Amino acid sequence: MLANPPQPESGDTVVLERTDTGESELTVSELMLVVDAIAKLGVQTLVLSGGEPLSRGEELFRVLQEAKKCGLKTGLLTNGIKPDHTPLSPDECRRLFDYCEWLQISIDSFDHTPYRQPDGSEKTRYMLIRGIDGLDIALTSLKNLRQGLSAAKPGSTGTLRDHLEICYTIQKDNIEEVAHTRALLEKNGLDWCWDLLRFKYAHGPEPINPDGKVSSSSGFLCKAEDIQRLIRTMSSDDHFSYLTDGSRFLPPDVALGQPTLGMAGRFREMGIPRKCQALNFTCTIDAFGHIYPCCFLFDDNSDRPDVRAKYHMGSLRPSNRESVGDDCFDLLRKAWQGGQLNELRSRDLMIDEKACCYCTRHIYNNEFLNKLQRALDTYGEHFDLENIEDILSSTPGAGLRAPHPYWL
Ligand code: SF4
Repeated sequence: MLANPPQPESGDTVVLERTDTGESELTVSELMLVVDAIAKLGVQTLVLSGGEPLSRGEELFRVLQEAKKCGLKTGLLTNGIKPDHTPLSPDECRRLFDYCEWLQISIDSFDHTPYRQPDGSEKTRYMLIRGIDGLDIALTSLKNLRQGLSAAKPGSTGTLRDHLEICYTIQKDNIEEVAHTRALLEKNGLDWCWDLLRFKYAHGPEPINPDGKVSSSSGFLCKAEDIQRLIRTMSSDDHFSYLTDGSRFLPPDVALGQPTLGMAGRFREMGIPRKCQALNFTCTIDAFGHIYPCCFLFDDNSDRPDVRAKYHMGSLRPSNRESVGDDCFDLLRKAWQGGQLNELRSRDLMIDEKACCYCTRHIYNNEFLNKLQRALDTYGEHFDLENIEDILSSTPGAGLRAPHPYWL
């Protein structure tokens, strides 16, 4: 990113999303056209996320292969469970790493113990969160991915962590487990996973019932007191510092599912104007070819249709035609360079009070990139590497020497 700053007509990252609105998803040949257009635009990195990309079966591999052929560096977010509830095979994992630079597998519990529920049934935490008894399937995929990486990238200079990450979302059904995760990994012979683990707080609006009230049965957010207890328990562990050092998240905000609410206010009080730098290098395309500025202005959980309608920036399927066509590149470029996105780029955070408070995906980048922008404005042509070092050292958790870097 630093070595190759975005040009006016290019983005660095495009996220290809899947949703469930009843429209037919892009076919594999349409996806090929979209991938080609993304690469032609000058994009360097493509992230495929969900929903669950594995639901596209063999088509996913064809799209990833095309992305590699186009020179894109590709990342994949998955839960590691195929639609037939089987794990990724060793050969599939090798192929994934043939095509992808990195993979993130989402596993929100490592506890095999079934717990009695209020209705008398017994469920593991994984089953409570995911709705299926899939912990062993996900763990088999994880082990196969580790082997697949060595097979696909033998002698790779990076570490396992450069290519494989486990994302663990802390929510009401697993917050009690978090402090015991390291012990659970050791018990299950998975010690090597500890360094790959990135914890994040669950965020986003709770599901709303048809009566307009928050659904308490399917709610996922933690209580503020449970978060405070976790912070007290884990504050001496470097691995958790970015969640517990108070520099980004305040427990009451996390309990509301709006983890960046208070910090945004703090920056405003300090009189530091902050743009959303993420909008200069990311863009989201959903599974139907609709273009949005980012995941939260897209409303990737489909909880806020008003947000989604407001930030729709165009479609790669023109309304008068059913399929993505040869004008895909022009449509994508028009959205990327268009007045709607440029207007959002020029605003100070929060861009949207209802959406940005949920956003953690880009807040890390925003902190660093806003500092970088200010330094560039201050030093102009005298800006040098030392300035970057200063910014890195004043940004908690940032940089390659941090205990658990989560950006770059
Ligand atoms: S801060 Fe707001 S505009 Fe920026 S990426 Fe997050 S949700 Fe999108």
